[in-house]
Amino acid sequence: MLKIALSKGRIFKETLPLLAQAGIEPIDDPETSRKLILDTNHDDVKLVIIRATDVPTYVEYGAADVGVAGKDVLLEHGGNGLYEPVDLQIARCRLMVAGPKNAPPLRRRYRIATKYVKTTQSYYAEKGEQVEVIKLYGSMELAPLVGLADRIVDVVDTGNTLRANGLAPLEPIADISSRLIVNKAAMKMKHAQVKSLIQQLQVAVERQKNPIS
Ligand code: AMP
Repeated sequence: MLKIALSKGRIFKETLPLLAQAGIEPIDDPETSRKLILDTNHDDVKLVIIRATDVPTYVEYGAADVGVAGKDVLLEHGGNGLYEPVDLQIARCRLMVAGPKNAPPLRRRYRIATKYVKTTQSYYAEKGEQVEVIKLYGSMELAPLVGLADRIVDVVDTGNTLRANGLAPLEPIADISSRLIVNKAAMKMKHAQVKSLIQQLQVAVERQKNPIS
């Protein structure tokens, strides 16, 4: 049995065509089904549908053998007990520091609101800047508008959400895309099945990049 952890929404939609090229297709639709474990066209392959931030935890503990997680989530998780063999090059965006448009540099110890607390702390520690990081679970863009924080750290795609709230991207922290992650024990114990999935996904990613070849 191979259990693949996926989150609903963008990652699921963009992973599906890649899995299909690897010969794996879900039987139920996770957007309409309430099932959390979906059958596929293979009796020995199941899709486990969980929150995006929980995917590395399920895979680390072996509750799922493999999974698809955003690099932002992996940076924050720390990547213990996981291999990250394929950059699926989907759900691309950038992790950025953002703040009010034309904001002057801040001198005092300033406050940053984010759900990426560890990543933000290590980014500023590396720069040698003292900041106070405030953990939020959503709507980060609101924090500078109401005086909760001077800056935010969030993932940015088109930048429309920032612009709509009078904010602008200030510093890039990391390029983000989704990765295939693999439990270290599963890589050994289920080697043939996992290896074959890795190879097929690598081919599918290349094909998506160069559709003609
Ligand atoms: P934007 O296109 O910059 O307006 O992005 C809209 C919102 O979607 C942002 O505030 C992010 O929280 C979220 N977002 C954009 N791209 C991604 C992604 N690849 N993965 C997860 N969240 C994203």
